[in-house]
Amino acid sequence: ARIFEGVSVEHIRTTDGQAVGVDTDQGPIDAEHVVTAAGMWSHQLGRDVGVNIPLHACEHFYLVTEPIPDLPSGLPVLRDTDNCIYVKEEAGRLMVGAFEPVAKPFGMAGIPTDRPFMQLDEDWDHLAPVYEAACERLPVLENVGIRLFFNGPESFTPDDRYLLGETPELRNHWVATGFNSIGMQSAGGAGKVLAEWMVHGRPPMDLWDVDVRRMQPFQTNRRYLHDRSVEALGLLYAMHWPFRQVETARGVRHSPFHDRLADLGACHGEGGGWERPNWYAPEGVEPTYEYTFGRQNWFEYSADEHRACREGAALFDQTSLAKLLVQGPDACAVLNRISSADVDVEPGTSVYTTWLNDRGGIEADLTVNRLDDHRFLVVTAFSTQIKDADWISRHTPDDARMTVTDVTSAWAVLGVFGPEARNIVAPLTDADLSNKAFPFGTLQEIDLGYARSIAVRRTYMGELGWELYVPTEFALGAFDALWESGEPRGLT
Ligand SMILES: Cc1cc2nc3c(=O)[nH]c(=O)nc-3n(C[C@H](O)[C@H](O)[C@H](O)COP(=O)(O)OP(=O)(O)OC[C@H]3O[C@@H](n4cnc5c(N)ncnc54)[C@H](O)[C@@H]3O)c2cc1C
Repeated sequence: ARIFEGVSVEHIRTTDGQAVGVDTDQGPIDAEHVVTAAGMWSHQLGRDVGVNIPLHACEHFYLVTEPIPDLPSGLPVLRDTDNCIYVKEEAGRLMVGAFEPVAKPFGMAGIPTDRPFMQLDEDWDHLAPVYEAACERLPVLENVGIRLFFNGPESFTPDDRYLLGETPELRNHWVATGFNSIGMQSAGGAGKVLAEWMVHGRPPMDLWDVDVRRMQPFQTNRRYLHDRSVEALGLLYAMHWPFRQVETARGVRHSPFHDRLADLGACHGEGGGWERPNWYAPEGVEPTYEYTFGRQNWFEYSADEHRACREGAALFDQTSLAKLLVQGPDACAVLNRISSADVDVEPGTSVYTTWLNDRGGIEADLTVNRLDDHRFLVVTAFSTQIKDADWISRHTPDDARMTVTDVTSAWAVLGVFGPEARNIVAPLTDADLSNKAFPFGTLQEIDLGYARSIAVRRTYMGELGWELYVPTEFALGAFDALWESGEPRGLT
């Protein structure tokens, strides 16, 4: 290997959707693989070539005191998460670092590119509450001078996990970035697994938590990244409550049903930017989480929903499902090669299948819905939207006559599940919903109120039911019609 220092990469060179090298201020370098490991500069390098590297810099602070007489050496590192501080003995001094709950984003007008390392201005007003708390925890701090106030920028990702792996937008381009203030302690492991991933073409262990393909295209939005970074830094030390919800950059991605469901008492949680109804508060109860490690405040309300689903019917907003329209004369052959189940089925069949890698490991778990001879709707979780599309793309021969279009935004999805489902849907359509005419695992295009809907006879509840795919502009009408039909029948 050759290492060049003091060289600035100006641009990642690409050909046919692949990275083939870099242009630097000292000339081009050809490469079979390019790894962007440029810290907070990574976002812009990626953006220049259409690659989504969602991270935002924040100011991160620590102080070093003057020498403290008789301070024992070799003290353990103290982490006082309630007070957002970490304290470390350093050559007879104390170093006090902060992960304050409301962080200070940096670099909104772009990260300066004229230096590799940055020290920013002191900000006592910002740090004072944390330092006061530190003095209460360690009274010795009250009477000792400050030798160094260090403020350096560091990058944070929307979910506080770093970004590793090959980018779906550009082949042979890899990232190891977005280290959320644990980049030094993570460096050895991150470098090792990324190297093995590159050599063997697969990660050496399950790295989905940090896989860059978990990120959604909208997450490159700078306002979103800025607003989320304010919270992301502090979350490192915040209480990791079960069901904890992020509080910043909320309300960015709504299903058409959002407001209707909020009126019905929905407590929305966030996933991939989507606001999704997690549970419903009864009238008079505030739909908010009361975090606890014990029984959740929504336990009984959720139980009511379960009961309704078993005994009557429940309506689910499944709009966040990712939908990929795979079409063309070779669509069937390609999908059948990828899927572990046989998807070369009669049009109007919905197949629940895994996609496996060459070691038999599960890469995806989704449905492949055959609309007609040449058109399939692949439906998967929002969290794997990019990964699953990437998997298809990687396993599509160059000469295959097939296209993949992400149609997630085109379709809202309502699940009507439970023994009453048929009685609720039937008044809105002239389609025959009987078991004989519309058996489990099949789909039909049907009228639904004023809309045309793809109805899939499938539930994940073990009960009768349909997933109803409705074009987004018809979604509210379909919702209202279903609710009108369902409410008297106990739809929840
Ligand atoms: C105050 C402070 C305290 C911290 N304390 C800890 C700690 O105790 N433990 C811990 O684990 N982590 C700590 N961190 C975090 C840690 O420093 C980072 O997570 C880590 O440095 C990130 O590594 P990186 O390689 O991703 O980015 P960087 O360290 O920022 O390195 C990126 C490099 O890429 C170079 N670069 C950028 N653009 C280009 C270009 N176009 N061409 C060529 N080169 C380019 C930059 O010059 C830079 O050298 C701390 C951070 C701060 C700010």
